[in-house]
Amino acid sequence: MSDIVLSARGIKKSYFKDKLEVPVLRGVDVEVPRGKVTALVGRSGSGKSTLMHILATLDQPDEGEVYFGQQRIDNTSRRTRDSFRNKQIGIIFQFYHLLPELSALENVLAPTMIGRSFTDYFRSRKETRRHAEAMLDRVGLLQRASHKPSELSGGEMQRTAIARSLMNDPQLLLADEPTGNLDTDTGHEILGLLRGLNENEGLTICMITHDDAIAETADVCHRMKDGQLLLSPRRTRTESPDAPKLQIA
Ligand code: ADP
Ligand code: MG
Repeated sequence: MSDIVLSARGIKKSYFKDKLEVPVLRGVDVEVPRGKVTALVGRSGSGKSTLMHILATLDQPDEGEVYFGQQRIDNTSRRTRDSFRNKQIGIIFQFYHLLPELSALENVLAPTMIGRSFTDYFRSRKETRRHAEAMLDRVGLLQRASHKPSELSGGEMQRTAIARSLMNDPQLLLADEPTGNLDTDTGHEILGLLRGLNENEGLTICMITHDDAIAETADVCHRMKDGQLLLSPRRTRTESPDAPKLQIA
């Protein structure tokens, strides 16, 4: 298996505002190494979410290529990309994107309904439900299974979103500002949870943040600058446990 889970080369993306081209990504190269926590850090508006959507195949680049392992995925059909994403990538967002009418457990179950016939779902529903409960347990939230999002705190909503993202046993978790809407302590709890999933279960994580202190907790850190990504010169954690704290360029 490749040591690089996901990679992108020469990614360019512009938006058009009043017929004026606004280049956001100007040739981004990035690799997400297996089994590590990678951070993409940059100021608000620097194009981080745009890049994450492209890496997650939710959006397509104007130019450039995205590979999952050795396989190019950005140029495949929408259906192929949807199915690939549903199976291989877990995604969490700053604002959780939970469905308000559904309980925490039902939100966690939601991705398993995609791409399956009702008969198929009905046949395995007990097992699927048990699996969803196990995912809620994994993020410490089983006791909130029947609560709706409006009855959960921000941290609990993000835990639910993390449980949902793990439901199909993804190879990679992409997180866009996962603590951006949380107070500092709750943010640290969520980061600790993500780090635990990485250290204890080998989950590969790529997280986006505008916060240098959060980026510092990652194994590898890339900084977004002028529409490109620069690998920070020093790394934390991976080199030695006593390595000095990451200095971000
Ligand atoms: P970040 O996540 O780093 O804050 P974004 O990727 O969300 O940055 O946005 C980068 C730039 O692209 C911003 O200037 C933003 O206004 C612009 N942008 C993002 N999405 C759109 C869109 N759908 N249409 C036009 N401009 C957009
Ligand atoms: Mg963003």
